[in-house]
Amino acid sequence: MDLLQLKFVQALSSEVRDEVLIVDAKVLIKLAECPFCKAASPYRHDSRTQEFADSPIRGNPVRIRLQRQRYRCRACRKAFFEPLVGFSAKRNMTQRLVHYIAQDALIRTFADVAEDVGLDVQTVRGVFLDFSDWLRAHHPIATPRIMGIDEAKRAKVLCTVLTDLQRREYFDMLPSRKAEPLNAYLSKVPDKEKVEVVAMDLHQGFVHAIGRHMPQAVRVADKYHVARLAQNAFDKAHVDARKPLPTGERLAMFRHRGLLATRDRRLTDDERAKVAKTLAPFPLLQAAHAAKESFLAIYEAPNKDVASRQLSVWLTVLPAGLSGYFRPLITAVSNNREIILNYFTHRYTNAFTEAANKLSDLLQQTGRGYGFEVMRIKLLYGKRGQAIDLTDYDADDDLPGGSATTAFVFSKMTFSSPTLRKKQASGGDRKRRGPSFARVGRLIGEGYYDLGNQTIADELEPLIREFAATA
Ligand SMILES: [Zn+2]
Repeated sequence: MDLLQLKFVQALSSEVRDEVLIVDAKVLIKLAECPFCKAASPYRHDSRTQEFADSPIRGNPVRIRLQRQRYRCRACRKAFFEPLVGFSAKRNMTQRLVHYIAQDALIRTFADVAEDVGLDVQTVRGVFLDFSDWLRAHHPIATPRIMGIDEAKRAKVLCTVLTDLQRREYFDMLPSRKAEPLNAYLSKVPDKEKVEVVAMDLHQGFVHAIGRHMPQAVRVADKYHVARLAQNAFDKAHVDARKPLPTGERLAMFRHRGLLATRDRRLTDDERAKVAKTLAPFPLLQAAHAAKESFLAIYEAPNKDVASRQLSVWLTVLPAGLSGYFRPLITAVSNNREIILNYFTHRYTNAFTEAANKLSDLLQQTGRGYGFEVMRIKLLYGKRGQAIDLTDYDADDDLPGGSATTAFVFSKMTFSSPTLRKKQASGGDRKRRGPSFARVGRLIGEGYYDLGNQTIADELEPLIREFAATA
């Protein structure tokens, strides 16, 4: 069996040199007419050896040293080679290597992929960028029915992240969360009238922009976001209560903050007694704890009407002395009451979006130097891209004439990188591989988002550490 399994190419011999498999091969096509003027019987002018990179075989990068016949036409005097099938003139590599790099670079770092194929990082990046243009044109991402919107910091910019909460995938990312670009973007989302629900935190820019561009969509305030406002109010009261205490007592109180943050119904009797004892000397803190608990209990209401009534009662009975601590929550409720209560008719949360955001932080740490656009493509297509059939993806499509023409004319003999090979042979800067983008994507899909906001960070922490350690 032929080592290369390439159409119209025959492998003649091979050897491994500096961990690179070098294959000598020849082209099996004989030209009967000139590809330009169609005149018959072009004559053989000379032959050349051209070098192409190919996909790895048994872990070794592959170079094909291809003997090509050059012809000259008697009629039009043009010189040309016999055509090649399955090679990219633009990249001096086989199309299958282009596909290999394209798909791998979506889920692994450029450096890791470059090492596998024995090419430099810039080449991998170039293949990736071309491929991402093709992906966006040929595999646009469907607008979600149930959407999540959240903010995240990427490449030091606050940006907006949009997710598909049903498929648990990214929908899009834009490098800003300011009103103007956000509105411009949302006005152009294809099929935006099909969005039924948007889960969000209560950033007013999101609230208004979604209301304006997707008026049919039910906006749902993320319950974890709202719950966090209640927790924050209590935390502030807690800080104030322990401030005047002597150091020992302060530390003791600080130690119990985990229990104080736990919902009452999840505590054991023993723990509940501990909480009561900790709170007893501080009437205001005790009241804050009760207010937090009763607010969170509203989320257990069976329907929107009951929740709405409970919310009104809660606002009425909140002790005046606590309104300072609970101000952000009170403001959020008075500005977004409907949106908060919509949770009881559309029980969606934005936890997936937030979990996805936490993980994409890691991706950014691993891929040092990725710009926003590379980051965006990796997040949007990392998981999706693996299932896409690349048969029709031709790396030379954007060259004038495409691969059909370039097949006859490419004669560059540029491919050789002895320095890189030496570097790889020495193994000097071979680095340990971290968890891949794919693995992180799987973890997102495996339900880390279901744990509720407070716990998400805890559950993800070991992963975050692992990721950061291997970055
Ligand atoms: Zn001719």
